[in-house]
Amino acid sequence: MQPTTEPHNAIPVEKTPLETYVPPAKPSLIGLSRTELADRLGEIGVAPAQRKMRVQQLWHWLYFRGAQSFDDMTSISKGIRAELAQHFTVDRPEVVAEQISNDGTRKWLLRLPSGDNLQKAHEVECVYIPETDRGTLCVSSQVGCTLNCSFCHTGTQRLVRNLTAGEIVGQVMVARDRLNDWADREDGTRRVTNIVMMGMGEPLYNFDAVRDALLIVGDNEGIGISRRRITLSTSGVVPNIVRAGEEIGVMLAISLHAVRDELRNELVPLNRKYPIKELLQACRDYPGASNARRITFEYVMLKGVNDSLDDAKLLVKLLKGIPAKINLIPFNPWPGTAYECSDWDQIEKFSEYIFNAGYSSPVRTPRGRDILAACGQLKSETEKLSARERQALRAMAMTD
Ligand code: SAH
Ligand code: SF4
Repeated sequence: MQPTTEPHNAIPVEKTPLETYVPPAKPSLIGLSRTELADRLGEIGVAPAQRKMRVQQLWHWLYFRGAQSFDDMTSISKGIRAELAQHFTVDRPEVVAEQISNDGTRKWLLRLPSGDNLQKAHEVECVYIPETDRGTLCVSSQVGCTLNCSFCHTGTQRLVRNLTAGEIVGQVMVARDRLNDWADREDGTRRVTNIVMMGMGEPLYNFDAVRDALLIVGDNEGIGISRRRITLSTSGVVPNIVRAGEEIGVMLAISLHAVRDELRNELVPLNRKYPIKELLQACRDYPGASNARRITFEYVMLKGVNDSLDDAKLLVKLLKGIPAKINLIPFNPWPGTAYECSDWDQIEKFSEYIFNAGYSSPVRTPRGRDILAACGQLKSETEKLSARERQALRAMAMTD
């Protein structure tokens, strides 16, 4: 792991109270496509013939250099910079707390305006996981999640709203800001090399914003993280899986977690709407899946629930014919959960069985558990849900 050069502005570990939130006075340009940027330039009087060139400059400053103010954009004329600054910002979501785990994992708590009442704030989390050969950023797609998977902390939180494309791209930009990871790094290397849409929320229930954001993140004239290094994880929103392949073209991960519908209905309630057979068919149809671009099947190891060798056998049988790898995730506990993580020797036996059947079966090392940054532990400020409210939300998710 390379040493990190800390940015100067320190962020507190403890966040400031939500009530102190001041909503932005002007819209940010972050998250806009080239066409949308051209429209905004038109609104401030840039002539049509000039727009394409100006968009290219802006794109470079925003997404390649990570400029934090219009003043930094020295190749753009002063007049246009002043005009831009009068109407827009280049603000990312506000970082209100930063926690660093003893294993180097970092978690940022970001504050956003609530969708309907701009005076109120929402919060979302984003996690950076450094490894020797890569640095992975785990990005959120929603504040909370409508899908109440029974083993997931985020699932206990009320869905407050979908994130916008700007707020999704903004998480990547915050990470690059905080890690001094823009194009002008002296050694030319990058800290954030991979993106996983595995933070809070179900990305395929916020399809358009996730698509628009990932197209920006993958654009090689900007942030430039290749689509092969971006993985979208879904609990199984079948109608949007093939669409994701066609319109976004990133790597796919499926939160399978159970091999029988009866158990999966319990663990991932969305299974009642899209059962295992339909889910696996969508995987077979996923554009671009091949032995070189395998689909990852995530499988959380829950003691005495889904971790028997019979489960492993059925898993191998189910995945036949799909270019797949299996990622075993030791269950990460959170306050109030009834589940326990499988015993280590059981995880090893399970892993060995699928490995011997010809599948790569790495066990995901839990990272950042001490700061509740590991898979499924994310949960921002929340209102407690009554059982009735939870049921209503679940019904809503099942019918839309
Ligand atoms: N909503 C998407 C992506 C976010 S969750 C999805 O469900 O795929 C990212 C991964 O963490 C999923 O595979 C999810 O099932 C898993 N996960 C959730 N809670 C967990 C927990 N407590 N321990 C381990 N993995 C968990
Ligand atoms: Fe939502 Fe994914 Fe958690 Fe299920 S596992 S509740 S889909 S974030």
